[in-house]
Amino acid sequence: MSSGAAAAETTPLEERLIDLIKLKGPITIADYMSDALGHPHEGYYMRASPIGADGDFTTAPEISQVFGELIGLWLVEAWQAMGSPESFNLVELGPGRGVLMEDILRAARLRPGFARAAQVWLLETSGRLRLEQQKRLKTTEVKPLWADDYADISPAPTLIIANEFFDCLPIRQFERTKSGWRERLVGLDKDGARLAFTLGATPPPPEFNLPDISESDEGDIFEASFVAHQFAADICETLNQHGGHALIIDYGHMERGFGDTLQAVKDHAYWPPLASPGYADLTAHVDFEALARIALDAGANAHGPVTQGRFLDRLGLTLRVEALCKGQDEKTAKDIRTGAARIAAPNAMGEIFKVMCISSPSLPTPAGFES
Ligand code: SAH
Repeated sequence: MSSGAAAAETTPLEERLIDLIKLKGPITIADYMSDALGHPHEGYYMRASPIGADGDFTTAPEISQVFGELIGLWLVEAWQAMGSPESFNLVELGPGRGVLMEDILRAARLRPGFARAAQVWLLETSGRLRLEQQKRLKTTEVKPLWADDYADISPAPTLIIANEFFDCLPIRQFERTKSGWRERLVGLDKDGARLAFTLGATPPPPEFNLPDISESDEGDIFEASFVAHQFAADICETLNQHGGHALIIDYGHMERGFGDTLQAVKDHAYWPPLASPGYADLTAHVDFEALARIALDAGANAHGPVTQGRFLDRLGLTLRVEALCKGQDEKTAKDIRTGAARIAAPNAMGEIFKVMCISSPSLPTPAGFES
């Protein structure tokens, strides 16, 4: 389907949203994203499996097993640096098909005490994906628990991993107009027939902390994910109270800036963000500076971000790839090398993806973040 064809069809969720907007007025982009991704029946993640070569988009653990294995070894090292606690939470936020956790646990077999001590928690809203995670992790040595909300996870020393999770958290957008900042909202086109962007009539409240007008030009777009900020604050509270690290991997920017990064992807191609809600993935770049600021304000440490390529390199990507290739036939070895290049090369995922670690203050700098 081309974007033209998409415009010819409305999805059930779009019709529902059009009715809602007719009744109550425009909605925030955050509300639009929440429904498009997480609506209990019509949401994108509730539908047929979106991730992997047969889905709409693919992720690093789906591309190369080396990604999860290196992170598994990183987690074992981090656990040891915490004094190898006999019981701790190993939390994955947004575990997708469970591939990353499976690879992590396989690599961690090197230290059997790690899996014995780990209570695996999977924060996942999609029932479909939960089933896939359950199936995939059935044969591992852990008994995962699932959580709908971060608050459901019982407190303990904690290691958190979040790969491509923060990018699907709802954002709000603000546009710099002649009269100052105005929120960019989802309303209706002039015929009232389709969803279209519109601007709020009144200035956003001061507690939104938008950049000073003098630092922006007319037409600039500023994004903020208050949901992501809340996650970061909750994570810091856990880490400060019980000790641990949170490894956040995503595409995004190291410094706060302007730009519209809301994007939709369908069948591995870009798609208009307001077309086909529920049938296309929706994401936005992660503002790592905002997350780091929240961590520092909370008294936690923030390491990085460093680029994914650099991080994997420092964790020993090359050696791991060569070890895996040993004794393999030529085609398998080539596939292993190609996969590793896709996740680490600057012109693939190596530069745009960043890795950041939020840590409790007393722990040493974790591997990969040494200056
Ligand atoms: N980490 C996986 C999948 C990334 S896709 C990988 O690297 O392959 C995003 C994942 O986050 C999906 O599992 C999706 O269902 C989940 N998700 C999105 N928003 C969520 C939310 N608010 N709470 C919990 N899970 C969420």
